[in-house]
Amino acid sequence: MSFSGDVKNELAGVDTQARHCMIAELAAFVMLSGSAEETESGSVLRVRTENEAAARKLFTLLQRAFNIDIALHREQDSRHGGGVFRIEDPDRVRAVLAACGHETVLRKECCKRAFLRGAFLAAGSVSDPEKSYHLEVVCPDRGTAAVVRDAMKETGLTPRIVLRKKNHVVYLKEGDQIVALLGAMGASISFLNIENVRVLKEMRGSVNRRVNCETANLNKTVVSAVRQIEEIRFIRDNGGFGELTPQLREMAEIRLAHPEAPLTELGSFLNPRIGKSGVNHRLRKLCAYAEDLRRRTETS
Ligand SMILES: [Zn+2]
Repeated sequence: MSFSGDVKNELAGVDTQARHCMIAELAAFVMLSGSAEETESGSVLRVRTENEAAARKLFTLLQRAFNIDIALHREQDSRHGGGVFRIEDPDRVRAVLAACGHETVLRKECCKRAFLRGAFLAAGSVSDPEKSYHLEVVCPDRGTAAVVRDAMKETGLTPRIVLRKKNHVVYLKEGDQIVALLGAMGASISFLNIENVRVLKEMRGSVNRRVNCETANLNKTVVSAVRQIEEIRFIRDNGGFGELTPQLREMAEIRLAHPEAPLTELGSFLNPRIGKSGVNHRLRKLCAYAEDLRRRTETS
């Protein structure tokens, strides 16, 4: 299953406890994928669910908050395991719409989270965090999008809205914000999964940077070894070896004999052996001597 499907499955399984939260969650379903219609026998409320997880949640919410058994009115949509739920009893339609439309629906913190959970179940999707960070809720109109956006904002997020065809899409683009929303909605397993991916991604990034840095250092080492060897050859070919102190001459010969050896290894070939900084010091002296010799041979 997709990451989005996993999240929805998990959210559908979150047990919404308080009735105020149930109503907030239900209000999201009604706002995002509901439609009310007047018929001869009274008003009918239709709520479309796009998958099995959302259908299961909607069924439970209506039953527990309003004692409505919509299983009887479920028109199966076999493609996605979702379907359209119909509530035909006018009194019940009125009761649901009044409760969901009440101004206090989103007042409590817990209810905002339940509302966002319902919104995601009804019309949300999230991309696989391995590939990209994108979470969105597709809203049918500007007003609904504003409600979803504000609920996210009040949870500390910074969502944006984009118009796509006829829909107003509320979306998040940052990994840490998507993680925060999953946590707020109660998807703790998905929360951990995406957090792991995020940490892993960051780790990979920093490992790559470190590897690049080490490669750069290695290149620098190779470049300086090549330069040292050129300088020592210049000294040798211009009869400079005779002018060197015994220590520098030994250093020069060992550098030429082991062109690829790192400095610490070069030091171990000397008698007595010396450390990396000692080797570095002698090689620098050799290079300085080569420069001096070059100046002298050029002017003479
Ligand atoms: Zn609540």
